[in-house]
Parts: sequence; structure tokens; C-alpha cells
Amino acid sequence: MKRHRMILIIVLIVLVGIGIYYGARVHFKEKLEADKPIVGEDIQEPQDPEEIRIGVDNYSNWHEVQNHNSIGEANAYAEKRLEKSYNVYLNRVFVDIGYDWDGIVFLPIRSIGEGLNWRIIWIPDKQMIQVVKGDEEAFVDVVNFFGKAYVSLDILAHVLNLDSIAIEDGKIHISEGDIKEWQQGIGEIKGSSFYIDDMKMTDAAYKLDEDIYIPSKIFAMSFGRIYRYNAEEGFITIDGNRVEAILIDGIPYSQLAHLEEIIDTADHSFSYDAMGNKGKKVEVVYKGPDKKRIALTFDDYIDAEVLPLLDVLDAHDVKGSFFIIGNTIDVNKDILEEIYNRGHIIANHTWDHLNNHSIPEDEFRGQLISTQLVIKKHLGIVPKYYRPPGGYYNSKMLKIARDIGLKTVMWSLNSNDASFDSKPAHITEQVLKNLSNGSIIVMHTKRKSTIEALPEIIKKARQQGYEFVGIDALIP
Ligand SMILES: [Zn+2]
Repeated sequence: MKRHRMILIIVLIVLVGIGIYYGARVHFKEKLEADKPIVGEDIQEPQDPEEIRIGVDNYSNWHEVQNHNSIGEANAYAEKRLEKSYNVYLNRVFVDIGYDWDGIVFLPIRSIGEGLNWRIIWIPDKQMIQVVKGDEEAFVDVVNFFGKAYVSLDILAHVLNLDSIAIEDGKIHISEGDIKEWQQGIGEIKGSSFYIDDMKMTDAAYKLDEDIYIPSKIFAMSFGRIYRYNAEEGFITIDGNRVEAILIDGIPYSQLAHLEEIIDTADHSFSYDAMGNKGKKVEVVYKGPDKKRIALTFDDYIDAEVLPLLDVLDAHDVKGSFFIIGNTIDVNKDILEEIYNRGHIIANHTWDHLNNHSIPEDEFRGQLISTQLVIKKHLGIVPKYYRPPGGYYNSKMLKIARDIGLKTVMWSLNSNDASFDSKPAHITEQVLKNLSNGSIIVMHTKRKSTIEALPEIIKKARQQGYEFVGIDALIP
């Protein structure tokens, strides 16, 4: 099996493909951290009668309408692109979702490669992924699709030496090496909702005999633990510990009691009910009421670079709202405490900042719950607000967020501080020009230009009679 080789694959088909499919839309290869939605063409925004949009009826300027439309178009475009998808199974276990783009199947390289014990290394300088296993190595050009790296099926099969791939009924089965038998969940199984601290973790928990079984991966993700599926050996691990699991519909399930032996959950409560809380309407907030109150919101990562921002807000006695990415909170817990102790609102911006369209629904729950729990661990409070990375959302995500107790908060005014060439004067002008009653202004946590622009923005806005409030005071 082991061969000495060093291949450099230039995936011409992908490069050419982007040119053909997306033409001028080269911004399709979005930057991971940029909160800029993709704008498609000639696409209508989907209407969902269950979705209530707060604030859209009091838009008062061109920018607000434009902002709303571009978010809507980006979401519709993503939905359209992703509608033809495949559940990908690796040695019988569900691992991820792949997509059909105009006849070419693209698969996420990380989840599949890691399952087969390849090391998957992102090389930023080359904008490529290096895959390594033993003395085999390859460099692969990837397409960054909504924050994840994808490779065409043919290329993936080549670089990972995949032997057998079958496509049928919306499923892709990759069979590699000796396939281990899993114990299957059989008998009287009944789907129900499972909650962590009253936040819904899944709608597909099961009771077998008297034991509760839940998806092992989402439980691990919810507590910020590292879940791995070793497809070659046919078992899963959490933080390196092997976990007993059975397979139900291709998904590894573990006994709650067993998971509690591996993850310390002493401070948390679990519940299980057959009803769920379906049917309630979901809300997404774009703007506050028509009053002279506005909110500054700051997205993404936190670290020591946030301190100058806090100082500016303090100096002007302004309460901000921080939508924070969860995965680096632990190592920056002092900063989190600093933001909270200085009186700002702490909100959820998911664990990994992936486009929520491109991950399975249960994994999206894990993205939200893990961020809730890490904030709860350090501050003793649970956020009430969530902002989808890049502004990508659909009705399913709104419902999932609601079931976790989160209100989805968008923005009506984009300060444009995410563009790398954004100068303080541009940000100031952009904000002041488009300010109106109830504005929710999106900014970012670690940008010098933003920090430099803020004193002028705050001063001028106050001269116009606006009051800066936290998102909790803005939204009724
Ligand atoms: Zn963001």
C-alpha cells in the first residue's frame, strides 16, 4: 500500500470551473473571517411564512434596503447552490455533506481524509492542503466553499487512494480497506428531543430498553471536545478516549451514561422529551424600533487586541454587543471576563464560524450549544443572541437557534470595516451617512481602523441625538 511519491496536483478543472461557473463572482471564494455575504444574480429571496423579520418595515435609507437584499440574495444563492447535496458515508458511517456543482461532485477533504488517518494540513502561503500519511504526501488545490475546503470526487479519490466509491440515491458510499462491523440500533426505537441545560441538542435521540442514546459527535461538540471517527479501525474517540457506540441510520450513537463517564458533565442537566417545541414562530431581527436608539455590535474572535476597543468604548461610556466565536474563548477567558465586566453584552457567533448552510443540522446545534456552554462556564451567564457567520441563515437554522433559546440578530448597517483596505475615514463616513433610528451596526473586534473611527462616530451620532445601547435594550 505504501508508495514513495510526491505529487503536486494543480486542479485545473477547479480553477477553470470557477471561471466558467462564477464569472465575475470571484468573491465566491470567500475569506474565512469576512462577514461579507456572497451576492448572486437574478435570484429571488425565498419567502417563509413562519419567519418573522423584525425591523425591516422601518428601513429608512437606500443602504438598509441594499444591505437586506444582499443578505437575502446571498442566502438564496447558497440554498440554490447547496440544494443538490449528498450524504457522504465512509465505511458505512455518515461523515459529512458533499455537493453537486453543475455536474461535478465536490467533497469535504478534511472529514474524509481524517477518517482515513491522513493528516490534513492547510498551507496558507500556497492556499493548498497538504495530505500526509506515512511516507505518502500530496498537495491539493481546494475550493473554499463557505469556509470549508472541498475537492472534486475524482481528485479526492486520487490523492487519498480511495478504492471504492458508489453514488446512489443522494448518498455517496466510500469503502476503504477492511470494513468493521458496527452494532446496529434495532428494535423499538423512538425519536425524541434531547436537551442540555434546556437547550435542544437533537430531535433524534433514542431510547433502547431503558437507556438513552444520543449522537456521540454532537454531544462531544456541545462540550467543545474533540470527536474523531477512525474509519480504518471502525471506532470513534472523544479527546482520544475510545467510545462505545452503535450505528443508527449511519450515525454513531452512544449511551448517555457512557458519555458522562468520558466528559465531566457534573454542572449540567439533561432532559428528554417526545414532544420537542415545534410550531412556534421564529424571528430574525434586522433593526430596532423607530426610536433614537442604536447599537454597536462587534463580531468574531477575541484576544488581547480587543482591549484598545474596550478602552475606546469605556472612554465614551458606550455599551457594545459582542458576537464571539467560541473556539478560542477558553484560551482568552480573561478577555471574555474583561468584556463582560466592563458591561458589554456577550453573544454567540458559533463555535467555528462556518457557514451554517454547509454543515448537518445537528452539527449546527453543536456549534451553538458549545459556545453557549463555554461562555456559561466562564461567566455563569448564557447568551440570548446569536448572529450567523457571514449572515447566512435559513428557516431551519432560525428554528434551531430558537430551540436553544437564542434570538437571531442580523444588522441594518454594515460599517464595511471587514474589507482590508477600509480606512477609519471610510468607516466613519459609511456609518454616519447611513445611520437611522434603531440602527444595528456591524463592526469587527480586532480592527485598528474601527477603533480609530469610533470616537468620531460616537461624537457625531450623539450630536444628532442618538443614544448607544446594548442589543438587549434595543430589541423589545
Ligand atoms: Zn463573523
